[in-house]
Amino acid sequence: MISLRGLKRLNRYENRIYRIARLARDLCQLKQIGYSRKSINGFRFPVYSLVLGKKSAVKHHPVGLIAGVHGLETVGVRVLLDFLENIFAEPGQVFRDLKKGKYAIICIPILNPGGVAMKRRSNPGGVDLMRNSGVESKSAMRFFGGQKVSQLLPYYRGKNLQPESRTLFALVREYLFPVRKGLIPVLDIHSGFGMKDSLWWPYAGTTQPCPDQLLYERTARILCENETDIVPESQSNAYTIHGDLWDYLYNEFQQETRKSRFLPFTLEIGTWKEIKKEPMRLFSRRGMFNPLPENKADTILRYRNFLERFVRLNQLYSRE
Ligand SMILES: [Zn+2]
Repeated sequence: MISLRGLKRLNRYENRIYRIARLARDLCQLKQIGYSRKSINGFRFPVYSLVLGKKSAVKHHPVGLIAGVHGLETVGVRVLLDFLENIFAEPGQVFRDLKKGKYAIICIPILNPGGVAMKRRSNPGGVDLMRNSGVESKSAMRFFGGQKVSQLLPYYRGKNLQPESRTLFALVREYLFPVRKGLIPVLDIHSGFGMKDSLWWPYAGTTQPCPDQLLYERTARILCENETDIVPESQSNAYTIHGDLWDYLYNEFQQETRKSRFLPFTLEIGTWKEIKKEPMRLFSRRGMFNPLPENKADTILRYRNFLERFVRLNQLYSRE
């Protein structure tokens, strides 16, 4: 059900999206690019995109940032909104880069607003978006890897592609796929799994290495320089699932020969380490997926730096 507290939280995040658009002025296009699936009581939630940067950079050097795919993992949404707001509230390197047209940031801060409002992982139809792409895995974990039994149980794959998944696909195809040359990095921020943070790349559905494995390893080394708390690896090293959205998009991109390389990453902010400190969190759904309140500010600051490295990836590469 939709709770008043959930709605208020979503509203707080949406207000931050508007504020970022206001602060960024002519460097920003705020659009409503889709709707969530409808809830039983008729709520449909808008999905917004923020496109930050100069027109030519949007066309030639876009970097994707996505959060809020799972409604409970609000720390990812906060990390992303904090990073974006900070670019304009305290202009520094990223602001100068955007002004000069070195790259543009294409982002969906909350892909699953219904899940945020309903305080649950899935969308309003009970579908786990990260199991929804239709990619069939031969080695997916049972149940956790995606199930088709019931939308009342977690990890439900859904009968068809959900509006939220379609919205993500449309944004990626419109802004990221057309890039002619160079790297096209995109980062999807999650939280919850594991004692450490993970930086994952495809595949999630098979333990086979993806065609860009070596490029991914090199890129991860650049991104994680001076980061001791992030473990970079192919996602299937952690677990295998059906229906990963990035597996689908990555494969679609591979079907044509191109000069550019589409590099989707997933950042999983590990919060299980918190459970050691406060075991009762195991019994709270939000607690499982979000850091302890007193650690939240720290977490957000740490990731500001990481996201800055991420959006500047092409420059870090050319400096190597
Ligand atoms: Zn997640």
